Amino acid sequence: MIPSHIDTWQMPEPGKLARARIPLPALKPDDVVVKIAGCGVCHTDLSYFYMGVPTVQKPPLSLGHEISGVVVGGRADLIGKEVVVPAVIPCGECPICRSGRSNRCLAQQMPGNSMGIYGGFSSHIVVGGRFLCQVPERGATPLEHLSVVADAVTTPYQAAVRAELKAGDVAIVIGAAGGVGSFMTQTAKGMGAAAVIGIDINEEKLQMMTGYGADFVINPRGKSAKEVKELVKGYCKSQGLPTNYGWKVFEVTGSKPGQELALALLSFVGTLLVVGYGTEETSYMLSKLMAFDAQLIGTWGCPPERYPEVLAMCLDGRIQLGPFVETRPMSTIAQVFEQAHHGELKRRVVLTPDF
Ligand SMILES: [Zn+2]
Ligand SMILES: [Zn+2]
Repeated sequence: MIPSHIDTWQMPEPGKLARARIPLPALKPDDVVVKIAGCGVCHTDLSYFYMGVPTVQKPPLSLGHEISGVVVGGRADLIGKEVVVPAVIPCGECPICRSGRSNRCLAQQMPGNSMGIYGGFSSHIVVGGRFLCQVPERGATPLEHLSVVADAVTTPYQAAVRAELKAGDVAIVIGAAGGVGSFMTQTAKGMGAAAVIGIDINEEKLQMMTGYGADFVINPRGKSAKEVKELVKGYCKSQGLPTNYGWKVFEVTGSKPGQELALALLSFVGTLLVVGYGTEETSYMLSKLMAFDAQLIGTWGCPPERYPEVLAMCLDGRIQLGPFVETRPMSTIAQVFEQAHHGELKRRVVLTPDF
């Protein structure tokens, strides 16, 4: 059933939320109407809401870009299908898309940012059908949990692809216990890394990661980068793994201390993936890259064609969503934002529509 309107939690201006009823946009030939099962709350939403990061569409708009749901209107061949809506939807036609880098298409659209006033903290959303990821048989996994695949799980996967992570590698995850980092940790292990070393200052969450992909964990609080590096070396030595070359470092925090540590861990023929976003500057002697024959790679989102591989990992248990996700009614959005902003959430929250 195509609804006559969309119920939503709009951001009339940064820092404010208001319930609103907005028109359903006119459908173009490829479009579908998705009845939203859940929308994950991402740090990016908080940066628009609290930190003055501008959205492409000026407010009022609805935030939210981690969406799963069921197609209820539009393209007939998709009606009734369960889907994950990619967080960044490419144009599919430009030279960047055609070169296989569609995740950074310059014409890309992002729900809750650049898709007009429409976002995921809503009852429904209208999106193009071409790049939707259809959900296969999902067993007992709730559809709303799969919303986090749209960003928090696919972004780490793409980072691992860019790092050419393979069986036998040493992966180091900085921010290993965070909302995206916990999935980075699981993804690295799920893709066959010989050792995943998790680094995080949240001791409780860090210890939990030893059951979810981390072979060895380090809390860097009160330790110098050199001391952390020695601990990594010591662990690698104990496992018969390379102690001074080839490490693949994933920096997920976007913080200055996290980035400084990541750079300190970059060594011979190593790779550093910049996955997290922050606005502070970090300095580095770039010539070290030359001397190390090392790589520094930025990574953004994930091409839609890789989503099925990530969903498969989530559904076969290589990546566990349940322990890292909790659902709350969408009407609690203001409280959830506040708690997320103050670091009071233990898990990534998925808001389920209760209009
Ligand atoms: Zn996000
Ligand atoms: Zn494009």
